[in-house]
Amino acid sequence: MYEKIGVIGAGTMGVGLSVTLLLRGYKVILIDTQDTILEKAKTEISKTMMYAPMINKKLPRKSPKEALVDLEMSLNLKALAASDFVVENITEDIDMKQSLYSQLNPILQEETIVAANTSCISITKIGSSISHPERILGIHFMNPVYLKEAAEVIRGQHTSDTTIQKASDLLKQLEIKPIVVKDFPGFVSNRISHLFMNEAAFVVQDQLAEPKDVDEIFKRCFGHKMGPLETADLIGLDTVVDSLKVLYDSFQDPKFRCCPLLQKMVDAGFLGRKSNKGFYEYKS
Ligand code: NAD
Repeated sequence: MYEKIGVIGAGTMGVGLSVTLLLRGYKVILIDTQDTILEKAKTEISKTMMYAPMINKKLPRKSPKEALVDLEMSLNLKALAASDFVVENITEDIDMKQSLYSQLNPILQEETIVAANTSCISITKIGSSISHPERILGIHFMNPVYLKEAAEVIRGQHTSDTTIQKASDLLKQLEIKPIVVKDFPGFVSNRISHLFMNEAAFVVQDQLAEPKDVDEIFKRCFGHKMGPLETADLIGLDTVVDSLKVLYDSFQDPKFRCCPLLQKMVDAGFLGRKSNKGFYEYKS
């Protein structure tokens, strides 16, 4: 078991992952760029910790007070020097990710395993910015992390067998099944799911149907747990748009062109659940 797991990025994924790690008994050091973001994340972690074990009965129960003792937060990447496993969950932007990895190079120990939690970006490309790239891999955690039974594990061009093994062992301890795939933008899940979400947005833009009817067709006719627009709201429409841009740029295939309605909603600040408004309205 790792001593202390570093979690970089305290947004949607960083919060969900921290909850899972803390409930499973890991110490977590959570990093972001602003105090306000970290404070908001702490409140969210503490709230989520109360109900996550009620929905996922396999999760151990802990009072937030008990679990938060193991949560450290910092604005300084140097706080990760002692971590032996780091998961990066920052914004889906290759330039931001590469800049972060070059800052991590002088800080992390050589043998620290680094997992990039990305929706679409090539792990090989991210790996080009890190020293000892054999220790980097992709773990595409699903959202919300504490409810999901599996994650995509991505082997970049440089990723070693040992790195895949160590990451798979950690996931098994979290009761998340690792499914190992090769490195190509969007991997398996998002290369397919983003086409669904994008086309569903085009259907709404073309006024063919209301969002709830689009989602209902997927749920009632295809037996999906969630429809594509509910899923897009859950992921965050900004992250969906960023991911579509990565897919479009990578494949140069017009099938990945982002629906203008999605871009317009993001420009207006309608980001889905995280801003309480997307295709649906939410209460915080
Ligand atoms: P988010 O926008 O909710 O959070 C990103 C966080 O990273 C923000 O709090 C931001 O302040 C922080 N950040 C940005 N630059 C940073 C830096 N240099 N150092 C420290 N923190 C920094 O995004 P998210 O939805 O949590 O997604 C994070 C990553 O996980 C993305 O790459 C995304 O594609 C991937 N992902 C998202 C989902 C999802 O459903 N949202 C699922 C799987 C994977």
